[in-house]
Amino acid sequence: MEILSLKAFVLRRIRYGESSLITSLFSEERGKLSVIAKGARSAKSKSGMASILEPLNLIEAEVYFKPSREIQIISKADIIADFSLIKSNLDRMEATAKVFRTLDALTHADEPNQKIWLLLEKTLREISSAPMENLSAVVLAFKARIMSALGYEPILSRCSICDCGIEGRTYFAVESGGIICADCGPRGIPLEMGDVETLRILFETEDLFPGKLADEAKIAKIIRRHGEYHTDKKLDW
Ligand SMILES: [Zn+2]
Repeated sequence: MEILSLKAFVLRRIRYGESSLITSLFSEERGKLSVIAKGARSAKSKSGMASILEPLNLIEAEVYFKPSREIQIISKADIIADFSLIKSNLDRMEATAKVFRTLDALTHADEPNQKIWLLLEKTLREISSAPMENLSAVVLAFKARIMSALGYEPILSRCSICDCGIEGRTYFAVESGGIICADCGPRGIPLEMGDVETLRILFETEDLFPGKLADEAKIAKIIRRHGEYHTDKKLDW
């Protein structure tokens, strides 16, 4: 058995037995993992664990880790950040729930990924403070960037079939891995001027979050199809 010191986001939790809590965490050091806090809900508990393990808190935790076990034991935890600006606003909470669902669908237990960790941190800080009308674009940026962090970045700088520079009419063709030119098309989803630039901001940058998008439904469809094609999962985005 190993004792781990983890920095982690609390994704969700369920009550277990008389007084325990099982919590799903996404940690910097180990990626996703499930932990149990024994007795956390007991009136006698002095650890404060029940409020520390509230979804969305960023915590520092001590975990007894055994690879053979599916659920690890959390023995100590402290809050680093509680994201109260998100918790006090329903729209920001919903945006966060979408981010967490995406993260859950696309990551596996015990697979740390530093890019995804940083992306998650930046995205939650952005959700805390972004103007309300930008929230859905922030969630889309997360969906695109987690695909890139997992190695599924689409080709957006040239035709993904004939390799020519892109001018004029273009299409997004998931099975080709990105955009294609008019000669290789028409196929996939037709793109307008500006769509390619938007896709580049969403998939290829890390710190820049877009404002409200002109044709959000189309961009969302591209990201979802791209994600489903490459991960072979049905994504309810
Ligand atoms: Zn081409």
